[in-house]
Amino acid sequence: MKVTEHIQNGKGKTQFSFEILPPLKGENIHSIFKNIDPLMEFKPPYINVTYHREEYVYNEMPNGLLEKRVVRKRPGTVGICAAIQNKYDVDAVPHILCGGFTKEETEDFLIDIGFLEIDNVMALRGDAVKSETYFKPEKKGHSYACDLVSQINDLNKGRYLDKELQNSTPTNFCIGVAAYPEKHMESPNIESDIHFLKKKISNGAQYIVTQMFFDNEKYFKFVEKCRNEGITIPIIPGIKPISIHKHLNVVPHRFHVDLPEALIKEVLKCKDNSQVREVGIEWSIQQSKELVAAGAPFIHYYSMGKSSNIKAIASEVF
Ligand code: FAD
Repeated sequence: MKVTEHIQNGKGKTQFSFEILPPLKGENIHSIFKNIDPLMEFKPPYINVTYHREEYVYNEMPNGLLEKRVVRKRPGTVGICAAIQNKYDVDAVPHILCGGFTKEETEDFLIDIGFLEIDNVMALRGDAVKSETYFKPEKKGHSYACDLVSQINDLNKGRYLDKELQNSTPTNFCIGVAAYPEKHMESPNIESDIHFLKKKISNGAQYIVTQMFFDNEKYFKFVEKCRNEGITIPIIPGIKPISIHKHLNVVPHRFHVDLPEALIKEVLKCKDNSQVREVGIEWSIQQSKELVAAGAPFIHYYSMGKSSNIKAIASEVF
């Protein structure tokens, strides 16, 4: 079932969803199930599975040549989605990126997930990998998520790149896209970001999931701005609990979001990470309760492989 249908079925009640990362290469599917199992009691109608490009660096060798060394690999988004749909009675939402994909490879990815009866896809540009200073698309790939959305929408209309497939059944994907209440790091301002968000929607996006935020006012103002700009599709808030001291530096640096003064103060008072975890959980509970009261269609939790934190939050909210 499509995410937008799940929203309609919720009849205004806030529902629970979360996303998981594929495990690092070498681990097996049971590490994924171990994260999902404790969260199933909160009845997520769908689970997102992120996609990650291979991270590599170039080392200069003594002979002056460059050696490519893979530093991180998280394969298996499509396979994990199939396993989730097979094991649990929930929809899987694979993420797909512009980065690392040619248009032909994108089409193959979409044909694969359509074949597996996956009804949803989250269309993203992706970030620059460690070896790049800024995002570089593949030679025959997409530069922006709006173009990726167009390709998915074309397939929904039966327009395949592969001419052999012209008479094949059209796909019927529900397309989600990302948005940033505190603006995307490369955007000059929020207005420009919303301008391009509208392009993703006119190209076929049906719902939005936001970047994490720690101050609900940022989300409420963003939703208001979007509505004033004529954006009517659902805007699902994204929430991540802080869980270690290091997050005070890593989260603003990595995700380009602000941490409220009051949250920073509470974390700084903590003697160890188990106390930080409690502070993070309590903060997310308060955020979530306010979002539920404001009628958010879903709350989307960034689990980052830590389902026990999300379980503690969901137990108080759903
Ligand atoms: P875009 O919508 O393409 O926007 C990127 C930037 O370009 C913005 O500044 C925008 O304003 C600007 N822009 C957009 N269109 C145009 C245009 N036509 N012309 C000029 N400028 C334009 N990353 C992963 O690697 N894997 C994941 O699984 C993943 N999941 C995510 C899930 C969510 C909910 C979110 C919020 C982010 C996720 N990311 C993921 C991170 C995401 O890939 C990065 O934030 C990336 O930098 C931007 O992706 P986007 O789809 O928002 O890009």
